[in-house]
Amino acid sequence: MSNPKPALRLDVVTIFPEYLDPLRHALLGKAIEQGILSVGVHDLRDWATGNHKSVDAPPLGGGPGMVMKPEVWGPALDDIAAGRTGTELDSAAKHRNDKLRHDDVANVAPRPYESPVAGDDASKPLLLVPTPAGKPFTQADARAWSREEHIVFACGRYEGIDQRVFEDAKQRYRVREVSIGDYVLIGGEVAVLVIAEAVTRLIPGVLGNTESHEEDSFSDGLLEGPSYTKPRVWRGIEAPEVLTSGDHKKVDAWRREQSLKRTRAVRPELLEQVELSEEDRFMLDSREVVSVFEVGGQRVVAKQLRRALKQAGYRAETIERNETTLTVKGRTALSLEDATQAVADALPKGTQWSGYTAG
Ligand code: SAM
Repeated sequence: MSNPKPALRLDVVTIFPEYLDPLRHALLGKAIEQGILSVGVHDLRDWATGNHKSVDAPPLGGGPGMVMKPEVWGPALDDIAAGRTGTELDSAAKHRNDKLRHDDVANVAPRPYESPVAGDDASKPLLLVPTPAGKPFTQADARAWSREEHIVFACGRYEGIDQRVFEDAKQRYRVREVSIGDYVLIGGEVAVLVIAEAVTRLIPGVLGNTESHEEDSFSDGLLEGPSYTKPRVWRGIEAPEVLTSGDHKKVDAWRREQSLKRTRAVRPELLEQVELSEEDRFMLDSREVVSVFEVGGQRVVAKQLRRALKQAGYRAETIERNETTLTVKGRTALSLEDATQAVADALPKGTQWSGYTAG
């Protein structure tokens, strides 16, 4: 079943139309087939004039390379804003099998349009201009732009496009210059593939399972932790035991901890931008410890000990007692010395003890 109007229309202007072919494959191809997405590709040379159909000229003021000409880009963007459709991409492989896969495109109802950018004239299409000099593209942009109806991409080559093109385009478009990273590509096409894929997968219905993107890296401001599948042991390497425990609460806690720790190790600056709960801070700061105490014949009530330790910031996971030895295994952010003192303070008053904590 296809929708009367696609949720998202993409138009891409480029001098290498074939570069956009990957948009026809896999889930994006299927989104096209299902009518959720439509893509028009426009060869910039269709607007070039003269014998050589040239699209570039030397930079004003001198310097190396060439700059793309405004007289070619201007009319191209005018025509697309006025509804020129270009060459329609269709799905690379028809999905004849009716059986849904877990990651299939689900049927999606047309959505009412709301401008993702307050104060913007939402009736104008969004013109995205990939450039290393633009604002960094983020998952938050992908989320906002997945609610757009019409996005036009202008792919630069050489030294880029004459800046006046974008000044002028503001009459017909909301213009955003956007970078996909701090490096320089040869042209904007690959950046378009990156942005189009990140945006399209967030349109409701494109991913069968919405949770799979809700848990992605960046969706809660953190990186996602590591993933595992069967078998439980592969080439002698075991997957973390908790994942096969069947205890969903423990699995969720483990995943959160992995996500926090990976973010701190790889992208510590991201942690400064998210609000961490007390539990998150404990996960980040604590480590596994074991305290071993000689307490003679003193009676110790595990429940009371656990409660007192918790108040001191030491979470006891197991408390074992045999003859004269008390062993506490748990997690804490305390120093080893302070953890030892916390156990000593949690013992019944007057207990004779000697002990230590290792971590
Ligand atoms: N002279 C430009 C500069 O230094 O900012 C670089 C031009 S680059 C060689 C040619 C085209 O590649 C750009 O117009 C843009 O479309 C694309 N491009 C290169 N790096 C990019 C990046 N990091 N993000 C987005 N687009 C990029």
